[in-house]
Amino acid sequence: MQAVYPQGIHMALAHPLQKAGYAVRTATLDEPSHGLSKEILDNTDVLFWWGHMAHGEVQDALVEAVVQRVWQGMGLIVLHSGHFSKVFKRLMGTSCDLKWREVGEHERLWVVHPAHPIAAGLPEFLELEHEEMYGEHFDIPTPDELVFVSWFPGGEVFRSGCTFYRGKGRVFYFRPGHETYPTYHNPQVQQVLRNAVEWAKPHDGPKFVRGNVQPLEPLNLP
Ligand code: ZN
Repeated sequence: MQAVYPQGIHMALAHPLQKAGYAVRTATLDEPSHGLSKEILDNTDVLFWWGHMAHGEVQDALVEAVVQRVWQGMGLIVLHSGHFSKVFKRLMGTSCDLKWREVGEHERLWVVHPAHPIAAGLPEFLELEHEEMYGEHFDIPTPDELVFVSWFPGGEVFRSGCTFYRGKGRVFYFRPGHETYPTYHNPQVQQVLRNAVEWAKPHDGPKFVRGNVQPLEPLNLP
């Protein structure tokens, strides 16, 4: 990981987005509140989540705060092994388990939803020379939209780009990004992530009233 991402994956994700003009802030597990105070979360339009091995160390109160923000309209982009994060599992309501193999296989990601904004500007498939394999069955709810399907030389396939709507929030899961391969330096992957930010960022929508309410029309009850 050090060799491929000397400044860490968070910086490899941040730099191309900064270059594209986005205001980017990074947060890591070691920081107080994992770098995600209420104030920071309240001022975040789109949160990227990459994690591996340390999912159990993420505080449950923060998980709840992130989920609440998604329901309120914050975009969430979950990357690679983030499939097993508490936040993603909580939003999906399923185990999110899958099969995997880490031998540096080739990955081909087919665009299966060419009209989707996340596929804008891409060719019909993306190729990554070396990646970790994730295979079906991926235990997620049926995605609201499926944007990419991956093929691996070992014969497995995987739903690699999935969208989910949760409350007013938009969630995008994107599979590639194992820490020993330069996936996030790939210009087409960077394009996907920029497209995903545009798609996931908060969109205007109605403010809903919930709970006990007065009728909108007079009720002539006996
Ligand atoms: Zn991995």
